[in-house]
Amino acid sequence: AWRRLCPSPAALLGFDCDAPLPDAAGLLQRRRRHFARPQKNYYRNPPEIERGWKEHLFDIEGRAYLDMLNNVTIVGHGHPRLSAAVGRQWSLLNTNSRFHYAAVTEFCERLAGLAPEGLDTVFLVNSGSEANDLAIRLAWAASGARNMISLLEAYHGWTVASDAVSTSVADNPEALTTRPGWVHPVVSPNTYRGPFRGAGSTGDYVATVSAKLSELEEKGQKLAGFISETVYGNAGGIPLPPGYLEAVYAMVRSHGGVTIADEVQVGYGRLGHYFWGFEEQGVVPDIITVAKGMGNGHPLGAVLARREIAEALEKEGYFFSSSGGSPVSCVVGTTVLDILHDEALQDNARTVGSHLKARLQALMDRFPLVGAVHGMGLYLGVEFVRDRETLEPATEETAAICDRLLELGVIMQPTGDHLNVLKIKPPLCLSHESADFFADMLAKALRDGW
Ligand code: PLP
Repeated sequence: AWRRLCPSPAALLGFDCDAPLPDAAGLLQRRRRHFARPQKNYYRNPPEIERGWKEHLFDIEGRAYLDMLNNVTIVGHGHPRLSAAVGRQWSLLNTNSRFHYAAVTEFCERLAGLAPEGLDTVFLVNSGSEANDLAIRLAWAASGARNMISLLEAYHGWTVASDAVSTSVADNPEALTTRPGWVHPVVSPNTYRGPFRGAGSTGDYVATVSAKLSELEEKGQKLAGFISETVYGNAGGIPLPPGYLEAVYAMVRSHGGVTIADEVQVGYGRLGHYFWGFEEQGVVPDIITVAKGMGNGHPLGAVLARREIAEALEKEGYFFSSSGGSPVSCVVGTTVLDILHDEALQDNARTVGSHLKARLQALMDRFPLVGAVHGMGLYLGVEFVRDRETLEPATEETAAICDRLLELGVIMQPTGDHLNVLKIKPPLCLSHESADFFADMLAKALRDGW
């Protein structure tokens, strides 16, 4: 019965949605045999998801879940407009992106229209990792140098170059000592638990970048660029200290470097008040990278750069991606933008996000474990600590809370460098009712204990 309750457009399109379901335990066993473990906690309590509708997911055993984890499916699961647009384009044409077709022209125009003036040259790829890899190569080509400054505790992707600048210490603290020589990490501007905790510390964080630049200068090494997220995503969406990017971008540019804004997680309307995260800091980068939500789960990423930066790469090498920007990908990208606009999803992220943040902040009065509620729009982070003074991370408690939330019908995972943060990144169509359900279930999980 629950399967019929999920109004997925698949049945309307004539697909058989009533086929017998496989058995969940058997499926898990089969997957363990062949599917590489993508993440540390991948096999911890996995529901076997079969279909989705808006912000809800349904597993093959008949349970419904609220999807608060997603960050990719921004316009919601099972969107009929996307199903129809993809079905149409698949039937017409999907091919190597070497060919010319209208879909790519239209999508690039739409993307360029969303970016600040001048950042109007678009490269289309298949993921955020590829986008950041390409952005680094663009910085190298434009500067004629290799040295990149990145932030500690950041994640930019899994490909060789994007992983090199992903100086997260959670998985492997030793990795920091084995970074390639062109990566120069500086302190993460985490105002909650960074080394310069508290207000009025922008100058301290900026000083770590100027010290790094002086170090390079003393060694006679040139700078290629600086890469960062524009809101600190890894820890649940902590805004950077006021004026941080303005000061850092100015210094980087004065040293001949290129500034890269990684908007893969925090951009594309999720912050509610801003379409791009860099708007929150009042700056304009030289290169923007974007992925995740722009394809609503379909592999799609992009790099937007100024024309002269793009041309520098043409002189030094080449760029080509067989299916980056394929006709289907471009139609997905354009349709996602249409839906974001027509359903005013950025506005929804702002209003429902503010409501949810207020509800979560109220939990701080009742539960000492809730150390802080970060973020804005529908990019929020709840950070659990054992002590609000020392900020000792409540790692085991966070894992137990996520397990309890799953039993209560909410999908959530511990994240952040100490695995003590709930990063809240639901589809942007999240209703007020669903936001309240989440806040109620989190309160229940905290009340039940671990
Ligand atoms: N940049 C940021 C900030 C991310 O959060 C991620 C993915 O989590 C990436 C880049 C990599 O994107 P993808 O997984 O699409 O390769």
